[in-house]
Amino acid sequence: AAKRQGGNSFRFYDRGMHRASAERVALENDLRFAIERKELWVAYQPCVGGREGHVVSAEALLRWNHPTLGSVAPDRFIPIAEENGLIVELGEWIMRVACNECRRWHDMGRNGMCVSVNVSAVQFGQPRLIESVRRALDDAGLPAWGLQLEITESSLMKDAETAVAMLRAFKNMGVRLAIDDFGTGYSSLAYLKRFPVDVIKIDQSFVRGLCDDEEDAAIVRAIIVLARSMRLEVIAEGVESLSQVDVLRTDGCELFQGYFFGRPVEAERFRQVLSARSLSAAH
Ligand code: C2E
Ligand code: MG
Ligand code: MG
Ligand code: MG
Repeated sequence: AAKRQGGNSFRFYDRGMHRASAERVALENDLRFAIERKELWVAYQPCVGGREGHVVSAEALLRWNHPTLGSVAPDRFIPIAEENGLIVELGEWIMRVACNECRRWHDMGRNGMCVSVNVSAVQFGQPRLIESVRRALDDAGLPAWGLQLEITESSLMKDAETAVAMLRAFKNMGVRLAIDDFGTGYSSLAYLKRFPVDVIKIDQSFVRGLCDDEEDAAIVRAIIVLARSMRLEVIAEGVESLSQVDVLRTDGCELFQGYFFGRPVEAERFRQVLSARSLSAAH
């Protein structure tokens, strides 16, 4: 019976594999046309700071509304786009859209706002990124400090020497720089010192366990101390509860991003949120 079962499960596995790769091929094909078919859109999630809970910036997050599959998560299609190189085109597209949107926030009177855009390791490895960022800023009429680039710690460490040079080029341009998913990428502190960044974003996996896991709490505390002593801003990602906010504040973190303060929403909705709670507390 065991043998039979083994045979069945093998076949099942085989079919599952086939389905997975077929779906991948379909996604890859469909993604090529997603921009022109207007299936992609950008969601904005607030980053909130200070006692009053002002919205100080927003992260631009790519969304794909697939005609038959519905909403496809970035964790599913970004890796595909990175493998086939499409991420470069997608990345340039979201950069332009996000810069234009930030310009609108400035025009609404929220002229201290900054938009934060994720940059993949594949894009970051290409010198043409510098020119496309400059063009996106110019075309939008956005000052360089209105744009923040988020690069994950692991992307930076893939080729740390090149990363230092790229970061310097952006720093000279006046663009803000953030290390995303900090704490998961094994960066040496020696490199952290050489990366000319403005912000560290504490990975949400540590924030999740903050209130019930001693080790997560210790890691979060250590990152905050490190950031502050290096005069870097520190943002806690994935903040979902008031008790997490309390612990983070006690530890000295004053910038928050997470469902507790607002989910990623489409541009128009985000603008409504901005004008509605320009000076009021979060929620
Ligand atoms: P990320 O850059 O670390 O973005 C934060 C992710 O956490 C987002 O997931 C966001 O929706 C989610 N999040 C925010 N607050 C909370 C919370 O309180 N609880 C929980 N559970 N999750 C929260 P999303 O939008 O699904 O994006 C996933 C990842 O995909 C991003 O992680 C980023 O690495 C990548 N990504 C998204 N958009 C882009 C893009 O335009 N370009 C590139 N290269 N990567 C992108
Ligand atoms: Mg990010
Ligand atoms: Mg992150
Ligand atoms: Mg991430």
